[in-house]
Amino acid sequence: MPVRSILDADIAGKRLLVRADLNVPIQEGKVTDSTRIDRFAKGMKPLLAKGARLVILTHMGRPNGAMNAALSVDKLRPALSEALGVPIRFSDVSVGKSAEIHANALKDGEVLLCENVRYVRGEETNDPGIAQQFAQLGDIYVNDAFSCAHRSHASTEAIAHLMPAFAGPLLIEELEALKSALESPQRPSVAIVGGAKVSSKIAVLKNLVSRVDHLIVGGGMANTFLFANGAPVGNSLHEADQMGTVKEIAQLAKTSGCTIHLPSDVVVAREFKAGADTEPVSADACPADAMILDAGSAAVAEFSQVLAASRTILWNGPLGAFEMQPFDVATVALARKAAELTRAGKCVSVAGGGDTVAALNVAGVTDDFTYVSSAGGAFLEWLEGRTLPGVSALMQDEKV
Ligand code: AMP
Repeated sequence: MPVRSILDADIAGKRLLVRADLNVPIQEGKVTDSTRIDRFAKGMKPLLAKGARLVILTHMGRPNGAMNAALSVDKLRPALSEALGVPIRFSDVSVGKSAEIHANALKDGEVLLCENVRYVRGEETNDPGIAQQFAQLGDIYVNDAFSCAHRSHASTEAIAHLMPAFAGPLLIEELEALKSALESPQRPSVAIVGGAKVSSKIAVLKNLVSRVDHLIVGGGMANTFLFANGAPVGNSLHEADQMGTVKEIAQLAKTSGCTIHLPSDVVVAREFKAGADTEPVSADACPADAMILDAGSAAVAEFSQVLAASRTILWNGPLGAFEMQPFDVATVALARKAAELTRAGKCVSVAGGGDTVAALNVAGVTDDFTYVSSAGGAFLEWLEGRTLPGVSALMQDEKV
C-alpha cells in the first residue's frame, strides 16, 4: 500500500502536525549547518502558501525524557524563520494544555515550533497516551522525517494511527529516490559498500547481493573479504570471526548473479596517522607489520569501469580511512567518478549514511549526486530491505 502524500490533501485552514528532523549542529547557541532546515522549509513553503497552519515537532540530541536546556529547539527559530520566510511562534512544551492553546491560536500560514519531543517521557517508548497528547495539536499528521522513520516513537509511529496521516514532501522525495535506486533500478546497477566492519552490515550485504548486478566492497570490510580469500592482512582492521558470513554472502551473490568486486591493490602504512608513509601493494601482499588503509589506484580504475558501465549507483561507506589524508584518495576518486557520470546523465546515483555524506563533502561532489540521504540508521535499515515503522504507519486505510 503506498503512503499518501500531503501534496494531494486538502490542507487550507488545517493544523498540520508535522514531525520533522531538525536535529542540526549548534555551536554557541547558533545553527552551524542549516541544510536540514533549508530542505525541510523548501517542502513546507508551498503548504503554507495554500493556507496550512504548521505545528512542528522535532527532536534534538538525546535528553532521554527530561528537560535539558542545552537541547532546547528554541535555538532553531532564527534559522527556521529565515528559511520559511515567516516568524516562528514557540511553545516551550510539546504536550499538554499550553501547547494546545498555542496550536489553536494559529492562523492560516502561521508556524508554531514545539519544544524537543524527546523531553517527553514516553516519546521514545512509543507510548500511545503521549501520542494521543501530540495528536491534540493538529488536524492532520505529516511525517517529513525519513531519518527518524526506523524508530517506533510516539511522534513517528503511534501518532500515525490516531489521525489522518500523510507523508511530507521530503519523505516522499527520499522514498522515491531510494526506490529508484534499489527497488526498480535502471540496470546494470552497482552498490558500493565500504566502512569498518562486515558484522555491522551483514543484512545490508545480503540484501544488496540479491538485488544489484555488481557489489564493490571497500574499507575495513574489504580486508575481511580478502582475509576470507586467504590473503594476508597484517595488522589491518579485519574480522576473523566473519569468515562464514563472507562465504554466505559470496554464495548468495553467485546464486543471484551479482559480481562481487574487491580491491586488487591496496595502500598500506605502518602507522595510522595523517601524512604517514604509505606503500602501494597488491591486495594479496600486505606486509605482516602493515595495515591496509585504502584501496589502491588499480582498484580505483577497475571500480571506475564498473561504475561507467552501470546505470544506477548506490553508495554507503568509504573505501578507506578517509577522515585522514592520504587515506581518502580512493574514496574521493571514486566519488568524483560517480559524480562525473551522474552529471553526464549516464546514471542515477544515490548515497547515504553519515560517513558517506562526509566523504562526498570531502570530495566536493555532494550536489552532483542524484540524491544524498543524510539519514544514517534509517538508510541502513532500508538497505537491509526492512520496512521502516514510521513509513508503514503511514500506509493506512483512510482514517477519520
Ligand atoms: P562505517 O560506519 O561502518 O561506514 O565505517 C566508517 C569508518 O570506517 C570510517 O571511520 C573509516 O575511517 C573506517 N575505515 C574505512 N576503511 C578502513 C580501513 N581500511 N581501516 C580502518 N578503518 C577504516
